[in-house]
This record gives sequence, C-alpha cells and structure tokens, in this order.
Amino acid sequence: MSNSKEKLAIFGGTPAVSGDTGNLFTWPVVTSEDETAVLEVLRRGAMSGNDVTKKFEAEYSKWVGMDLALAYPNGTEALRAAFWACGVGAGDEVICPSMTYWASCTQALSLGAAVNFADIDPDTLCIDPKDIEHRIGPRTKAIIVVHYTGYPAPMDEIMAIARKHNVKVVEDVSHAQGTLYKGRMVGTFGDVAALSMMAGKSFAIGEAGMLLTNDRTIYERCISYGFYERTGAPSRWNEVDAQVTIDELKPFIGVPLGGFKHRLNQTCSAMGLVQLKYYPERIKVIQSAMNRFWDLLEGVPGIKAHRPPAGEGSTMGGWYAARGLYRAEELGGLSCARFCEAVRHEGVGACHPGANFPLHLHEVFHSADIFRQGKPTMIAFGQRDVRQGKGSLPVSESIGDIAYGIPWFKQDNPELIAAFAAAFRKVAENADALKE
Ligand SMILES: *Cc1c(COP(=O)(O)O)cnc(C)c1O
Repeated sequence: MSNSKEKLAIFGGTPAVSGDTGNLFTWPVVTSEDETAVLEVLRRGAMSGNDVTKKFEAEYSKWVGMDLALAYPNGTEALRAAFWACGVGAGDEVICPSMTYWASCTQALSLGAAVNFADIDPDTLCIDPKDIEHRIGPRTKAIIVVHYTGYPAPMDEIMAIARKHNVKVVEDVSHAQGTLYKGRMVGTFGDVAALSMMAGKSFAIGEAGMLLTNDRTIYERCISYGFYERTGAPSRWNEVDAQVTIDELKPFIGVPLGGFKHRLNQTCSAMGLVQLKYYPERIKVIQSAMNRFWDLLEGVPGIKAHRPPAGEGSTMGGWYAARGLYRAEELGGLSCARFCEAVRHEGVGACHPGANFPLHLHEVFHSADIFRQGKPTMIAFGQRDVRQGKGSLPVSESIGDIAYGIPWFKQDNPELIAAFAAAFRKVAENADALKE
C-alpha cells in the first residue's frame, strides 16, 4: 500500500486507487427475485391495485416498529401529506435544517406556510438542537428532523423541546432507513416519519415513498388527503377500504382533500417487498465496510469520521451519500476543495467538497410567489418574516469547507477499502506539498 512519502498523484505520482472495483459500488442489488415480483404485477395488470402495496406497508411498518404505514409515489408527497396532517396550513411556520435536500420542507410553501431554517451541528451535520427553541413562535406547527446521510439526529433533545412547546415532529428518514438512535430505529421518535425510496437512496425501489405513524388521526388525515378509494369509496381498481372513521373527515369520503392522488405503482411495492427481505443484512455489510474505512483513518489529521460515537447503540443505517468531516486547521489551513482535488487524483471520484446547498439562501424561500398574490409566499399569509440572508446560518453556509464525499461501499472488500483509505491518508499526510 501507499506510504506517506509517496509523491501525490496530482504531482505525477502513482494514484493510490486504480483498477477494477467490481461490484463494490453496485446498488441496489437486483436479483431474479425482484424481477419475478415486478413481472408478476405487470402480467396480472395490477399496477394500479393496492393488494401488494398494502402488504408492503404492513411488512415495512413491522420492520421499523410502527403501527400504521402508507406508501406514496415519492418521498416528497409523503412529506407534504405529513405536514398537512400535522396541522400545517396557511400562515403557519415549520422549522427545518438548512442543510438538506429541498424536499424536506419546500412543500410547506405549497400549504401557505413559511420555513424557518435552523443551522446544523458541524459534527453530526444534523439540525443543531441548540438552534431550535428560539425559532418557535405562536404559529410554529412542526419541526422537521433529517437524519442526514444516515446520521441519527439527537432525538432526545429534539423531542424534549417539541413536547415542551406542543409542536409536532416530522422525521425525514429519506437518508436513514434502518438507522438506529441509541438502539432504536429512527422514524419511531417523532409524531410521523416520511421517507423516500427513490432509485438513489439506501432503500431503493424506483420512485416511491413511505409514511409511518402511531397516530390514527394523522393516518386518517393522510388517507383523506390523497387516497380517495381508501376513504371508503367504491373504486374500479380496488376493494372498498373504509379507513376513514373520524367525523371531521367523513363528509369528504370519495374525493381527496386538496386534490392529491397518492397511490403508488405496485411494481415498486413488489420490488419493495423483495428488497426489504434482504435490506437488514445488506446494510450490515455496508456498515462493516464503512466502519472499516474510517477505522483505517483514525487519528489522521484534518479528516474525521462522520459517524455516531461507538458504544451508544447508534448506527448510520445504509450510510446514504456518505460524507467525511474536514478540519482545515489541522492541515495548516489547506482548503477542503484543494484537499478533495488531490484525493480525486488518487483515484477517488466521490471526493467533492460540500453536500447539499444551504436551502435558506435559495430564492424560492425569498421571493417565490406560488399563490400569485403579488407577495412572496413566505410572508403572504401573515407569517412572521423569517427569511434569512447570507451569514445567518454559518455552519450550513460553510458546508463546502467542513465536509466532502467519500466512497459509499456496498461490499466489505478489505483490500479495496484499504486502497481507498490510503488515498485519503496520503493526501492528508502530504498536505504541506499542496499549499503554495
Ligand atoms: C430524496 C429526498 C426526499 C424526497 O424524496 P423523493 O422520493 O425524491 O420525492 C426528501 N428528503 C430528503 C432528505 C431526500 O434526500
């Protein structure tokens, strides 16, 4: 393997990683069992049915340990429904970390609500619990928690704040299917969890989403919102399924509140059932591969593992879009961008600075007038003006200096993983050569 005296590849040395990586990054793992299950739906013409989907909902919620589940065409819609079911409406506010994908919260604008962005913690990259409470106002209806790139957010602290102020918690589990927080699966802490299962995620079955809750009112509201035939109306496609029992929702049986249609294509549910059977053992392999990588880099200056402390029963689930933490001060101020450039030359294509872009700076949360009222939607319904400019959330805004992409291993191949780790070590140990 490489030793630290070796010349960096960026200066013409031999790259630390080369050659065929085989199936190291192949994901999702699709076998003939997935194919057979999908074909069965196609041949039966059951794409718009819900028999397979209901089975998938039951199996998925059993795995997570929740009572009630609804499958969605994507995670975006599952989250929109979750917000609405938590009471988010025109003039309200939700709190969301700025460092996440837009679909964690942009749907709130479509409900006439504003998003009050919180900063993240530089070690967890999840919402900073110290930056939540002062943002809660009389119209705050929900705190959105994202278990960022699989890292379990500090749910003990977050739930204590939410319960004190009687605000609902929506867990966005899109990055963290199977992640444990202190021994318990994420998605079971808040009032409702919603997640994506699109092709790029750790649990990947096409275009799909899932909502989980133990709260019957939230569940029925979500059915009313987007599952017209599951309210109890007759349907050409599925048997009558009278899930709506709450009086406030009964007048609307048969037509979805808000005009949404949330039935999932059953080809995805069929694949989901097969994937779920193998997912727990497959993410164990990912966990051992990713932990192996970080164990090899323990103590290397400038770079730090993004994973929860050992011994508290927390995991990174499937390590979705895995990141490393960067601390320039330990490498004499070498920029993260320059560090990553050198690592890419060593044969690690995944190493780019940053993660998502900080959402609070996006124009949608400043001037977009979705309801065509001649006013930005963020303030159009009497909300407080919680729009935030540059400099307001310093950790989120510094993401390009403090985090970078690392290889997302799907197989635990000690030899190849050692070569990837060597690439990072080599660059960190030759940081002086990179500064002119
Ligand atoms: C992918 C993702 C979503 C949205 O899910 P889709 O299935 O793509 O609609 C929501 N939140 C986060 C954090 C995501 O990464």
